[in-house]
Amino acid sequence: MHLPKPKCEIREDGPTLERYSTDMSRYHVKPMMIVTPRTEQDILEIIEYARSIGAPITARAAGSNLSGNAIGRGIIVLFNGMDRLLSENDSRVWVEPGLVYDRLNEIMKDKGFFLPYHVSSSKYCSVGGNVATRASGLRSIKYGTVDTSVRNIRFASPVFGMVDTSKGLPEALAKGIIGIKERLLSDKDAMEVLRSKEHLKTSMGYNLWSFNKYDDPAEIVAHLMVGSVGTLGLMTGIELELRPIPAKRVMLVAFFDSLPTASRVVASISLLHPSLLEVMDAFGTDMLRSSSAVPVPDDASATLMIEFDSDWKEGEAGALKVLGDHALSSRVLQDPKEQETIWGLRWKMLLEIKRRNETAEKRYLSFVDDLGVPVENIHPFVIELESIFIEEGVPVIIYGHIGEGNLHVRPLIGKEHWKEDLHRIGDRCFKAVFRYNGTVAAEHGAGRNRAALMKEEWGEAVYGHFLAVKMLFDPENILNPDVIFSDADITEGLDF
Ligand SMILES: Cc1cc2nc3c(=O)[nH]c(=O)nc-3n(C[C@H](O)[C@H](O)[C@H](O)COP(=O)(O)OP(=O)(O)OC[C@H]3O[C@@H](n4cnc5c(N)ncnc54)[C@H](O)[C@@H]3O)c2cc1C
Repeated sequence: MHLPKPKCEIREDGPTLERYSTDMSRYHVKPMMIVTPRTEQDILEIIEYARSIGAPITARAAGSNLSGNAIGRGIIVLFNGMDRLLSENDSRVWVEPGLVYDRLNEIMKDKGFFLPYHVSSSKYCSVGGNVATRASGLRSIKYGTVDTSVRNIRFASPVFGMVDTSKGLPEALAKGIIGIKERLLSDKDAMEVLRSKEHLKTSMGYNLWSFNKYDDPAEIVAHLMVGSVGTLGLMTGIELELRPIPAKRVMLVAFFDSLPTASRVVASISLLHPSLLEVMDAFGTDMLRSSSAVPVPDDASATLMIEFDSDWKEGEAGALKVLGDHALSSRVLQDPKEQETIWGLRWKMLLEIKRRNETAEKRYLSFVDDLGVPVENIHPFVIELESIFIEEGVPVIIYGHIGEGNLHVRPLIGKEHWKEDLHRIGDRCFKAVFRYNGTVAAEHGAGRNRAALMKEEWGEAVYGHFLAVKMLFDPENILNPDVIFSDADITEGLDF
C-alpha cells in the first residue's frame, strides 16, 4: 500500500529535478522527488514512504563528490539544512551532518580545536558527506582520515529505526554485527587481503577493519558508517573528537626537474611525520611560477609542499637532508602569509585546471581522479603513470596527497572517442594500481565511476562480507543502490 507523501518540504518540478540530477561528477540520473527533512521524524517518514512505493533513497549534502554518489533515480534527501553544531564538550562535538567543514572549524577556532584532515573542498563540503565518503585531505598524512575523528553516529535505518551508537544498539543489529565479525575474522582469505591493505588510504567499500579494531558492536557500527556512501543509513548526528590547533606551522617548498624525481624522496620524507606532503606537476608549478609567490627555477616541472606543525626543527632539518641533491632548490616558509599564498594556489587546483583547459571538445572526466598505492611504491607508480599517458598521447595533470600515496590524475579527454579512451586509459591505470595493491578511490568514496571495480580491488572473499553488511542494514536495497554494488559500465549515465 502506498503511504501518503512525507509532510516535510517536497519538490517535484522539472527544473529542481534537473538541478539534482548531477553532482560534481558528470553523471546524470533524474530523481523523482527532492525532500528537505528538518527532523529525524521527517527522515523516518521519508524512509517508510519510499519503501511503500518501492523507490530508492539517496542522501545528499553539498553534492561536491566527484563519483556520482549523491544522485539517484528515486528520492533525494537534502541534508544541507541540518547543519547545526548540536553540543560541545571540550574537544568533543556533536554536529548535524550538513554542517560545512570550514564552518565547524570557524566556530571552534576560538576554543583552540579543529577538525584536522582538511579536505580541499572544505569551503562547501559537509561533515556528513565527509563521513559517508571516508574523506581525507591535505593533513590526513598526520591526522588520519575522517574515520580517526569519528566517535559516534546517529542514523535512521530502514530496518532498525533511529540508532544512536553512543546509546548502544538494538539487539538484532548487535547480534547481526557479532555474527559478521565471527565469520569475517575466521575467513583467512578475506583477513589476508584486509591486513595487506591495512596501511593503505582507501575509501572504496565498507570499513571492514572496524570488525577487527573494535570489540563493542556499537563502535563497529559507528565506523562502518564511515565510507558507506549513504548505503547503510541516513546520518542525523555525528560525534567528533577534534584536535588542538597547533601553535605554529612551518612549510617547505621544493622544486624538481620532473615528477618522478620528486616522487623519489616522498617515502623518506613521509617517515618524518609531516603534517602535509603534497605534490604538483608542471601545471601546478607553472601556477606557482606565474603567481610570483616564491622564486621557481626555470627548469622546475614538479613541486613538493611539505609542512610540519610539531617537532618542526627536526622535521625541517630531516626534510632538507632528504631533499639533498634531488631538489633543484627549496625554500623554508615561516611567515603564515607566505604559506597562505601557496595554500591558496593548491586549494584551487581542480577548479583552476577546469577553468583553464576545458572546452566543449575536451574535458577532465573523473575516472582515474583518486588513485592510491602504498607510499613505498609511489616512485615506480609515478613512472608507470607518466609512461601510460606519454604512450597514449593524452595530456594529463597530476597532483595530490603524495605523502599518502594518493594522486589526483586528470587526463584531458577529447570528445570524439571519449568512451573508448575512458575504458582503455582506465584499464591501464587500474591495472597498475592493482599491481601495487592499491585503490581506485583513496578518498573520494565509492560511486558510479568505481562500483564495477569493487570486486577486482577487493577480491570475492572480501566482497562477500561487504554483501553481508549490506544485507544486515538494508536487505531491500533502498539506500543509494548502484554506488557500491553494481556492474554498470563506467560510462553509463555519464555525460561528456
Ligand atoms: C574541488 C574539489 C576538491 C575536493 N577535495 C577533496 C579532498 O581533498 N578530499 C576528499 O576526501 N574529497 C575531496 N573532494 C570530494 C568531495 O568534496 C568529498 O567527497 C566530500 O566529502 C563530499 O561532501 P558533500 O557534502 O559534498 O557530500 P555529497 O557529495 O552531497 O555526498 C557524498 C556522499 O555522502 C552521502 N551522504 C551525504 N549526507 C549523508 C547523510 N546525512 N547520511 C548518509 N549519507 C550521506 C551521499 O549519499 C553521497 O554518497 C573534492 C571535491 C572537489 C569538487
